[in-house]
Amino acid sequence: MNLKELEDKHDLIFCRECGEGCMQITWHHLKRHNMDTKEYKEKYPGAPTMCQYSKDEKAKNLTKALTGRAAHNKGKPMTEEQKRKLTEAKKGKATRTGAV
Ligand SMILES: [Zn+2]
Repeated sequence: MNLKELEDKHDLIFCRECGEGCMQITWHHLKRHNMDTKEYKEKYPGAPTMCQYSKDEKAKNLTKALTGRAAHNKGKPMTEEQKRKLTEAKKGKATRTGAV
């Protein structure tokens, strides 16, 4: 599996210099390698500096700025717990954890 596949799968990007996985390759991180974002992009053309999730967040923030409306859940993916609670709320009755 190559880095690109891993990145898509885990919503992460991996620093081409050290292989560290993170949400975003920041200038702060690149400082470790004595380079900046521009140099990094020149050295690794096509390498993402931001994972898809962060891009989506940026897009949402931009939409918010343009329309003045916030995304319903602020773009955060729901946790399994939240999904479960929402499903229970829709059913109109909360079930106790473990009681099936
Ligand atoms: Zn690195």
